[in-house]
Amino acid sequence: MPHLFQCQGCNQSLNWNETPLCLSCRNHFVLAPALCPFCGGLNCDQQKCSQPWSQHPAIRSYTAQYLAVGNCHQLLRKWKSSGGPSFDRIVFKSYTPPESVDAIVPIPQRLKRSFELGRSPAHAIANALSRDLKLPVVTAIRIRKRSLQRQALLRLQQRIETPQYFEPISEKLPSLGESVVLVDDFMTSGHTLRRAADVLNFHGISRIHVFCLGLRPKIGS
Ligand SMILES: [Zn+2]
Ligand SMILES: [Zn+2]
Repeated sequence: MPHLFQCQGCNQSLNWNETPLCLSCRNHFVLAPALCPFCGGLNCDQQKCSQPWSQHPAIRSYTAQYLAVGNCHQLLRKWKSSGGPSFDRIVFKSYTPPESVDAIVPIPQRLKRSFELGRSPAHAIANALSRDLKLPVVTAIRIRKRSLQRQALLRLQQRIETPQYFEPISEKLPSLGESVVLVDDFMTSGHTLRRAADVLNFHGISRIHVFCLGLRPKIGS
């Protein structure tokens, strides 16, 4: 008899009550340790941040749910490309921001990428947090139109001189309060998140808590 159910992680056949992941895939998830609240790094101690140049004036904390390494990284990528509601339920753990916040803001995704994936992973994470924390998801920023194709072509120096990679969704940002959770799927250096934080901060959000699903450790850290 053919097996109707397959593990979404490794494709081996499953009993219905194990879907969507087999036991061994479930054991691949690696929870992330607490991150440095100043730079989002893994290797700073409580007293001293080793990358003070990465600090952002409005970002007050960084949280990653998982360390995206090895099999865990592969599983999170599978979730990103094919996660449905039952996969979501396994992947999302609860998150409590360090202070009360007013809204949840997902990092925007290129339209082309949304089309390829059929959804926006950052939005899926934001929606899960929203149900948990009973807070609104606000689409406050978008990728700056002119930067869409040019970003890849620009040389590094020019990119550094192009300060605003994101822009507000409209001239006046929707009302967000003063404190938000900024959400993305994966974080490596945190550069993208900090550029998004620049725009929010410029429009009056003074306290930002970063939440991402997976931290990809930088090479050498
Ligand atoms: Zn599996
Ligand atoms: Zn640090």
